[in-house]
Amino acid sequence: MFLRWLSWAVFSLVGALAGVWLGGATGALLGVIAGGALWLLQDSMRLARLEIWLRALQLADQDLGEEAVTVSAPAKGWYSELAERVRRMLRAQLRARKESQARLDETLAAMQASPNGLVLLDAEGRIEWCNLMSSQHYGLDVQRDLQQYAVNLVRDPAFTAYVAAGDYARPVVVTGSQSTAMRPVRLSVQLHPYGQGRRMMLSRDVTLLEQAEAMRRDFVANVSHEIRTPLTVLAGFVETLQTLPLDETQRQQYLALMAHQSQRMQTLVNDLLSLSRLEGTPLPGAQDEVSLALLMTQCEHEARMLSAQLASSGHAIEFVREGDHVLCGAPSELQSALSNLVTNAVRYTPAPGRILVRWTVLPDGRGEFSVQDSGPGIAPEHLPRLTERFYRVDRSRSRETGGTGLGLAIVKHVVQRHGAELRIQSQLGQGARFAIEFPPLRVRVRAASEELTSA
Ligand code: ADP
Repeated sequence: MFLRWLSWAVFSLVGALAGVWLGGATGALLGVIAGGALWLLQDSMRLARLEIWLRALQLADQDLGEEAVTVSAPAKGWYSELAERVRRMLRAQLRARKESQARLDETLAAMQASPNGLVLLDAEGRIEWCNLMSSQHYGLDVQRDLQQYAVNLVRDPAFTAYVAAGDYARPVVVTGSQSTAMRPVRLSVQLHPYGQGRRMMLSRDVTLLEQAEAMRRDFVANVSHEIRTPLTVLAGFVETLQTLPLDETQRQQYLALMAHQSQRMQTLVNDLLSLSRLEGTPLPGAQDEVSLALLMTQCEHEARMLSAQLASSGHAIEFVREGDHVLCGAPSELQSALSNLVTNAVRYTPAPGRILVRWTVLPDGRGEFSVQDSGPGIAPEHLPRLTERFYRVDRSRSRETGGTGLGLAIVKHVVQRHGAELRIQSQLGQGARFAIEFPPLRVRVRAASEELTSA
């Protein structure tokens, strides 16, 4: 600034001196005015150059970013310092802008990566931003639906009522846009106020949670029902024994019936414990082994005993074992899975039906344990649900033969824990075939030196 004043003073002084030399006092005054005018002219020209530079800088800044601030400053002298300061300020501003843009990009990327749906609403409830998950949840178009009212797009009456009530302390559960009758999708949506009247809309897919909760409720109801039935019968017999004068034969009859009911409860509790053990223990490793010969001998023993118990004529039971193999896995679990399939075949096949139990190794190295029966078969609509807990096709046959409705659920768990697959094929009236296919890793040929009982 000082330099500027000094140059003005020099211009005025030179003008005054030239004026004095040319025309005395009046000339001096005119010289000062002329000097000042000349100074003003050259100052305005420099200022104009600076303005043009600043304008060019502003334009270049929009296009080039940081490169813009390297455009050289125009003026020399006192305006060059001003230009330099402007340039430095601009560069600092640009860097700060870039940093905050990078932070914003990272925050948005994190919000995009969220497994939950996220929508930012302005004070009027219009969508300002939404992530991809939320667009899936509500069927939004990330670009097209910006500035639209959320209540117009999430057209679930529960959500409309939730927004209208204005109480966002709890989430509301709505139906997802991709929901179908076969595959329902349920979302838990909650609004979180922030800033000045803005709201963040969070959505979480709770379909599996709701299903698990429904299954838990059903399970408790089923267990209670299964236990209550024999308990009621038992309580009735106890009361009869206590109140009625019975002779010895009648007493023995009642006691036998009571023993049957308590046996039923015991089987149920044992199956429940097996299931919870299967869910609660680590996956079986490959270090435990059991020979197919041993597994099948035990299954055959159980099948023949059960067949003799259920029908005096018995069944035509055949066990075929191709090759001498060992299964890697938990022996007790494997035994229970194979036994369940074999005893089911005996229980559901009216005597004197045929039952063929077979072990074979398939060409691709997988081991297959199959049970084929000539029983009543199963209608196709029941097949996908057979392994559900307490799902029964033939309730009375299941009860009569001591079934709990948990057998195939146990089989499914064991099969999954061993990386195997359960295949069920059946047609009404044409028997059923249940097969477990073990992966090649779990099947090994038994060495001649190994004992039959080696597990
Ligand atoms: P349960 O203890 O009732 O036998 P499971 O889970 O073992 O329970 O079997 C579920 C249902 O599948 C049974 O109730 C029965 O209706 C059907 N089922 C199982 N095995 C057979 C089979 N070999 N033939 C016909 N139906 C079967």
